[in-house]
Amino acid sequence: MSSEPPNDVVFPDALFDQRRARLRERLEQARLPYVLVTKPVDIFYLCGFKGSTGVLLLGPRRARLWVDPRYTLQAREQSRGADVIESREALSKAVGAWLRRARVAALGYQGAHLTCADFSRFRQEAKGKSSGPRWKSIGATMDELRMVKDQWEAERIRRAGALTAAVFREVLPMVKPGVPECDLAAELEYRMKRSGAEGPAFETIVASGPRSAWPHARASGRCLQGGELVIFDVGAILANYAADMTRTLYLGTATGRARRLYESVAAAQQETVQGLRPGLQAGQADAIAREALTRKGLADFFTHSTGHGVGLEVHERPRLGRGDQTPLPAGSVVTVEPGVYVEGYGGVRIEDTVLVVESGPEVLTPAAKEPWFIS
Ligand code: ZN
Ligand code: ZN
Repeated sequence: MSSEPPNDVVFPDALFDQRRARLRERLEQARLPYVLVTKPVDIFYLCGFKGSTGVLLLGPRRARLWVDPRYTLQAREQSRGADVIESREALSKAVGAWLRRARVAALGYQGAHLTCADFSRFRQEAKGKSSGPRWKSIGATMDELRMVKDQWEAERIRRAGALTAAVFREVLPMVKPGVPECDLAAELEYRMKRSGAEGPAFETIVASGPRSAWPHARASGRCLQGGELVIFDVGAILANYAADMTRTLYLGTATGRARRLYESVAAAQQETVQGLRPGLQAGQADAIAREALTRKGLADFFTHSTGHGVGLEVHERPRLGRGDQTPLPAGSVVTVEPGVYVEGYGGVRIEDTVLVVESGPEVLTPAAKEPWFIS
């Protein structure tokens, strides 16, 4: 997979300046002059470096990015607003030595990401003979910052969503009895790449018949059969941003049972999408879907949460789950994906990626949901 964004996407420098400024504001509130960022996707978010290893130290005025020699050229090319420092020793050693020299008194770190072993190493190296800096986990700060997408980011996800929907439409005519699930998954992923995507944001799901009752089934060698439900869960990554979409089809003229399941899920999904607005708690969004399915007597078959944030990662904050009190910020992008799963028979899930803004929810995965049966 290419680590470069497609040529037509130039990440503006101002984007990274704004993100670092927002993080610095949060750090000031926590009285932390420095923060050590170690999660690759967050390093990318703050300075544009796309390598899988590196350490970013954000200070009050400057940002420094330590990389090993494999990444020096790439870091110089990709990083925006960070001084690149090549280290031929362990990054914890190099960063620790810098922290000692600069007499840094306090710094934040990503407690939810850094392993205990790595954290001990950094702390040990930063100590030397003194007691070392005070370390404080910044908790979910980075996730919270990334939850709010600006217009530029929303446009990236809009394009990833449009590509995902277009590829699904292209593959639809190939959906028929006798075709193996994995052939359709391969077609979808191949066409994503041919259309300019970096690739699938996750392993494409094509699950037919009884397998469609497994919410996380992978595509298998099973051939599609008439008179069955088929779930397609697809999403492309385009210029670093993901989309996530699920459609369910029935092969043949839909029976009463399939129709009842499909129409119930479609109504619950629609009602939840329409209910999304800034300030709504994530758990309240989940409750809309759950109550809609409860009215149809299907609540027990809805076994997962209603959705999740989408952005640089296909699963990020917030989680639209039971009781979650996180208010959805304006500019958040979330999936709405209620589903019902009947063991031994099959399942129905319908999912869109949706932008939450004051003017109303915008569906970013514009593939038709009708007709949903292929007769
Ligand atoms: Zn999905
Ligand atoms: Zn999803």
